[in-house]
Amino acid sequence: MDQANILIIGGGVIGCAIARAASARWQDVFLVEQFPRLGMATSTRNSGVNHSGIYYPKNSLKARLCVEGNRLTYEFCEKHNVPFRHCGKLVVAADSHEEPELTALKKRGEDNGVEGLRLVDAAEIRTREPHIKGTAALHVPSTGIVSAEELVHAYARVATNQGANLVTHAKVVSLEPSGNTIRVGLKIGGDADSQEEKIEARCVINAAGLYADEVAAMLGNHSWKIYPVRGEYCEVRGPRSSLINNLVYPLPHPDGLSLGVHFTKTLWGTFLLGPTATYVEGKDNYEKNRLPIAAFAQSAKTLLPEIEERDLQLGYTGLRPKLAGPTHKGGIVDFVIARDAKVPQAIHLVGMESPGLTAAPAVGNYVAQLVKQVLA
Ligand SMILES: Cc1cc2nc3c(=O)[nH]c(=O)nc-3n(C[C@H](O)[C@H](O)[C@H](O)COP(=O)(O)OP(=O)(O)OC[C@H]3O[C@@H](n4cnc5c(N)ncnc54)[C@H](O)[C@@H]3O)c2cc1C
Repeated sequence: MDQANILIIGGGVIGCAIARAASARWQDVFLVEQFPRLGMATSTRNSGVNHSGIYYPKNSLKARLCVEGNRLTYEFCEKHNVPFRHCGKLVVAADSHEEPELTALKKRGEDNGVEGLRLVDAAEIRTREPHIKGTAALHVPSTGIVSAEELVHAYARVATNQGANLVTHAKVVSLEPSGNTIRVGLKIGGDADSQEEKIEARCVINAAGLYADEVAAMLGNHSWKIYPVRGEYCEVRGPRSSLINNLVYPLPHPDGLSLGVHFTKTLWGTFLLGPTATYVEGKDNYEKNRLPIAAFAQSAKTLLPEIEERDLQLGYTGLRPKLAGPTHKGGIVDFVIARDAKVPQAIHLVGMESPGLTAAPAVGNYVAQLVKQVLA
């Protein structure tokens, strides 16, 4: 049976960033991904925003790892030629009733250590985004846009160069604790009749995204249930894409469901409108019952009155791995990053929704500290 020091389940941005951090410190690091390529799930179906950390409760993992991840992501992109734009964003109050919420957001951001936050008036909104209608806004200078796909592949490339083995078409089907190790059952090759292989790992890291609850359950841990919440986008191409210069957000959803349907000027010159937020059945349900374009146009008009239905085309969708079910009213739920209570040589990452893309390099370092305890 093959032996590994560390086996990471999941080749999304989180798994690849962990592989990079782990392979800088340890040998025999393996990452296994069930799909034919890395980053085919949530990690490349998002807004590609390098978030600042203004939204999350003070001292939460989301707040700490997002603020640190924002800085580390820019440094990494710069060093490894990943396309990005450090452009800042506006969170816009549509009317004066929303303005107190902007002040509260500014305070929360400052509590989290986000620098340079500034309330701006309608005149400054017009200077930055001439087509946006709002009474006031919060300017967030540290926010930016990155190429999510190239970021995933760059983390993977660095990990590989450091000696990690990243294997695609390799699905984890069983986990069996055995003394101080875990026996990992793998189906390799993607064929229905492919043989199961075993690999024995001293530390197993569950970075399985939407399936992290099911992977935890393979160890008998049923603490979590992941609810897929679909985010859908529309895209504006051609001359009308100049209606937006950078990033424009409404106020976030009060229940922590989403940051609100926003405008993102892409690195390829179009702009995206989205993502929406709808609980769906099925962890691969990207397309069933898509929202009509009219629904996007209608909601976008509040901040961008000039937008017309004919400007929009349906774009891609992504699924948020939510820990909060549809009846949840308690605000933002934090990331879970912890060793298994009964099988401490396993580390679970559950509920890695936004700002996971941003936080990934900080998550990698955080998990490396937990691995150090496991391998001690
Ligand atoms: C609509 C939307 C917009 C978002 N916008 C942003 C944003 O602008 N900025 C930001 O910071 N974050 C954003 N996010 C969040 C961000 O995309 C996620 O936090 C991040 O991609 C999660 O990465 P991951 O590696 O945990 O998950 P994934 O990318 O889903 O990777 C998990 C991988 O595990 C694999 N896997 C699962 N089970 C197994 C198994 N048994 N064996 C082998 N492999 C397995 C899967 O195939 C998958 O590739 C957004 C998310 C959504 C849905």
